[in-house]
Amino acid sequence: MGNKVVKFGGSSVADGIQLAKMKSIVESDSSRRYVVVSAPGKRFSGDSKITDLLFLCKSQKDRNVDYEQLFQVVADRYNGIKHSLGIEADLDSELAAIKNRLDGGCSEDYIVSRGEYLSAFLAAAYLGYDFVDTAGLILFDSRGRLLAEETNDALRTELSRHSHAVLPGFYGTRKGTDDITLLSRGGSDVTGSLVARAVDAEIYENWTDVSGLLMADPRIITSPKPIESISYMELRELSYMGASVLHEDAVFPVRESDIPINIRNTNEPDAPGTLITSGKSSSAARHDSSCWISGIAGKKDFTVISIYKNMMNKEMGFVRKALMILEENHINFDHMPTGIDSLSVVIESSELEGKLDDVIEAFERQLSPDDIDVFTDISLIAVVGNGMKGAPGSSARVLNAIARENINLRMINQSTTEISVIIGVESKHFEKAMQAIYSEFVD
Ligand code: ASP
Repeated sequence: MGNKVVKFGGSSVADGIQLAKMKSIVESDSSRRYVVVSAPGKRFSGDSKITDLLFLCKSQKDRNVDYEQLFQVVADRYNGIKHSLGIEADLDSELAAIKNRLDGGCSEDYIVSRGEYLSAFLAAAYLGYDFVDTAGLILFDSRGRLLAEETNDALRTELSRHSHAVLPGFYGTRKGTDDITLLSRGGSDVTGSLVARAVDAEIYENWTDVSGLLMADPRIITSPKPIESISYMELRELSYMGASVLHEDAVFPVRESDIPINIRNTNEPDAPGTLITSGKSSSAARHDSSCWISGIAGKKDFTVISIYKNMMNKEMGFVRKALMILEENHINFDHMPTGIDSLSVVIESSELEGKLDDVIEAFERQLSPDDIDVFTDISLIAVVGNGMKGAPGSSARVLNAIARENINLRMINQSTTEISVIIGVESKHFEKAMQAIYSEFVD
C-alpha cells in the first residue's frame, strides 16, 4: 500500500466547491492516505480567512467588544461547508463547546487553532477517514519550541493505528499539558512535513492555488517559466530572498528523511507542479549552459555599511568587534563581503530603524576606522542554481548581464556551495537587473 501525505492549504478548503476538488484528488490515488488541512481561507478577494476572524474574536472578547456576531460568521462558514456537501457530522456540538471555551476566557492559541480543528473534523467525515487530533502529538517545550524527535515518535505511534487519517495543521500542545500552541502563520505546511516524516511517506504533496514555483517573480518578468524540480538547498536560497510558496520550516523534517515535496495546484490537478528533492539526481543534470539556474529572486530595502581601515586584515579581532556591536544593538546582518582593508555589512534597513546613528558611533569609537560609508536603498538579487556548481563563468554571466545594462554593482557574494550568486544594486536598477539576468540565463 503506497503512502503519500497530502496537505491542503486554506484556499483548497475554502468552501464546499474546493473541498469537493480535494476529495476527488485524494480519491484518485489510493496511496493518499494521510491528509493535513488548513483552516478555510479566502474564497474571493476581499473575503476573510477563518484564522484571521478567530484572532479578531479573541481580541474583541479581551477588549469587551461584542464578538458574538463575528463568531457566528465563523460558525456559518463551517455550516455552509457541511450543508453544501451533505456531510454527516455533529458540528453543532463542536461549535457549542468552542463557543463555551471562548466565553469562559480561553487562550488565543486555543481559539485560533479551532480553525484547523473544525476543518479537519469536517474533512475527515467527508472523506470517511479517521480524524486524528494533533493535540498531544505535535509537542512543544515550555518555551514554545517544537520538540521534533518527540513529535516524530508520538505521530509515528498514533498513525500506525490509522490506515487513513485527516489531521489539522498549525498547532500542537505543550508537552505534558493540554495547552494548545500554534506554529507560526502558514504552519500547516510544517504539520504536513512532520506527518510525512513520521509515516515515512514516499512523497509530501502540498496542494495550494499555484502550479508550483516560477523561475522569477511574474510582476517583474513576463511569463516566467515554471520550475519543474529544485533541491531543498536551492529552495532555501530562493525563499530567503522572498520567493514564497512554502513555510520555510517545512523543509527540515522531510529533508532529514529525503522525502520529496511536490507543490501542486488544487484547481489544476493535472499540472505536475514543482518537485523539491535532495537534488542528488534532479537538477544536477542541468549542466548545459542554457539552464544553469533554477530561479532568481530579490528583495529591496537593504543598507550597506562599509568600514575602511588601512591594514585591517592584520588587526586581530576587528571583525569580531564589528559584529559584537551589531549583536549588542540586536541587529541581524545578512551578508558580510570583505576586502583587504574594508569590511561591509549588508543589513535589512528595517533592522536599523532608530539605531543607525548609535551603530555608526560605536563603530567609530571602538574600531577607529579611516572612513565609514552608508549606502541606503540597496536591493539584493539571488541567482540560484545547482547547475552553476563547478561551471566556470557563471558569476561572469551574471555580471556581464548587468554591465550590459550599465548597472553598477554594489556588492557580490558567492556562496562556497556555488549554488547561489548574490548581488547588490541600487534599488532604482532592481527590476532592470532582474530582467537582464533572467534573459541571460533563460530566454
Ligand atoms: N490557518 C493558518 C494561517 O492562516 C495556518 C495555515 O494555513 O497554514 O496562517
